[in-house]
Amino acid sequence: MKISDIKTYRVKIPLREPIQFSWEPFPNTHFEFMLIEVVNNKGTKGYSATQFAAQTEVAIRGLKPLLKGLDVEDFLANDRLLELGSWFFGRVGAIEVALWDLLAKEENLPLYKLFRGNRKRIRVYASTGRLAKAEEIINLIKKYYDMGIEVVKIRFHRTNVNDDLNIVKEIRKEFGEQVKIAVDANQAWGLVPPFWNRYDALKAAKELERYNIEWLEEPLFKDDIEGYVWLKRNTNIKIAAGELEHNFWIFKKFIEENALDIVQADVIYSNGISECIKIALMAQVNGLLFLPHAWDPGLGWLANLHLVASLPENLTPYLETPLDPLWWFNDVIQFAFKEGIEIENGYVKVPEKEGLGIELDIEKIKKFVT
Ligand SMILES: [Mg+2]
Repeated sequence: MKISDIKTYRVKIPLREPIQFSWEPFPNTHFEFMLIEVVNNKGTKGYSATQFAAQTEVAIRGLKPLLKGLDVEDFLANDRLLELGSWFFGRVGAIEVALWDLLAKEENLPLYKLFRGNRKRIRVYASTGRLAKAEEIINLIKKYYDMGIEVVKIRFHRTNVNDDLNIVKEIRKEFGEQVKIAVDANQAWGLVPPFWNRYDALKAAKELERYNIEWLEEPLFKDDIEGYVWLKRNTNIKIAAGELEHNFWIFKKFIEENALDIVQADVIYSNGISECIKIALMAQVNGLLFLPHAWDPGLGWLANLHLVASLPENLTPYLETPLDPLWWFNDVIQFAFKEGIEIENGYVKVPEKEGLGIELDIEKIKKFVT
């Protein structure tokens, strides 16, 4: 089964109201992504999507002469070839996912079954995105609770960290230990201050120790392995990171240095599903948790769902699910899904159709191509 073509479509969909996320300097009125379509010599199509449009286009430009006419399985088995896409300063995860979608369709299996997964449903955790006031976050958590969701991730990025900490205090006051709280500081890269140093990160961690939180995510710059080691040694809170890293070798360094408790590779941000499975298994043999980042367009979230369904529950108990605002899940994540995915009692069912398991409304997507 040969690869005969790769096409990309840049898509821009309007949001029902402007939204500003904690890591961004301005509100968004639209959500932009790129749809990737790979076609084999029989005309079967595989799809994927990513927010990293420019970087993925760079990778496709670099790889295209090598890909055309190549056997899909040969490509997927060749991690050196995939890494070559990164060497072109690109992102290859979405290309890899589109090829897996194509291969799983040809095999007539849902993607997770190709990886011998057997989890039928996955527990989600609610990922918030905004720096809302305590009252608004509490109201959201009540809705999550009604949906059966027990873990919520809130954002720390206010000018004064005491204002961030106050949100945790208010949540605990309202719900006691009924809700499990994770905190994401988004300090691995910077568009918006504050930019924490190691002492800021330690202060936040020490204060959070009082509130029994699940984990503190990206408290430091992404490459500061020594900083992560130092922080982890000085706090008993679980430290999570890695959503921006792209390959097995970088995670090997983090894990060998004992820098993390929770590893967070994302199939779209990294070199893809195969790479994430290797990273997850490396986390497992080192006694760590693996919780993939999953804040990309719908097919990216779906690919991470299949990844989680391929892994043991005690290694990967939850899938990150963007639920702030609540309409994000239907309007944006499932924008072009022909069959909707529901959250029931805190779980989503893994789609059982072939490939990523959801038929896309391609005509709807094409209406928003820029
Ligand atoms: Mg994060």
